[in-house]
Amino acid sequence: MKVGKDKVVLMHYTLKNDAGDVIDSSGGGDPLPFLQGHGNIILGLESALEGSKAGDKLDVSIEPEDGYGLRMQDAIQEIPSSELQGVNEVKVGMQLQSQDQDGNAFLVTVTKVEDDKITVDANHPLAGETLHFSVNIESIRKAEAEELSHGHVHVDGHHHH
Ligand code: ZN
Repeated sequence: MKVGKDKVVLMHYTLKNDAGDVIDSSGGGDPLPFLQGHGNIILGLESALEGSKAGDKLDVSIEPEDGYGLRMQDAIQEIPSSELQGVNEVKVGMQLQSQDQDGNAFLVTVTKVEDDKITVDANHPLAGETLHFSVNIESIRKAEAEELSHGHVHVDGHHHH
């Protein structure tokens, strides 16, 4: 069986940035399950894994455009400190919830704190990074009908949501 749409794939992976720092890894834990073709993992990685088999080891580099997007300057904003209600102590690296004009919530990361204003960045922390994945395909199976209708994997019959 090969990795393809509607297959459940278990993989071990290590993700590094251009500098070679490990950003994320399944090492030491259970392999990561995902449902191929449903956007469970970034699209660039889905395309690269398409057609591979259990036991395959792949090294995949993904440009920002196919990963978490380019870093956008207009996603960085300065906010007067007076507008931050209910937050006691704002620190660099803290994530805050914000709302767009349609009322949709999104996360911003505090990147600078000054007396009268703070700077927040709505870019994904990995935006602008080329992603270097090392992947081991552990197993591949057909998805259950319920998994397909939910668009994600149910591990050991449990319902993870
Ligand atoms: Zn479900």
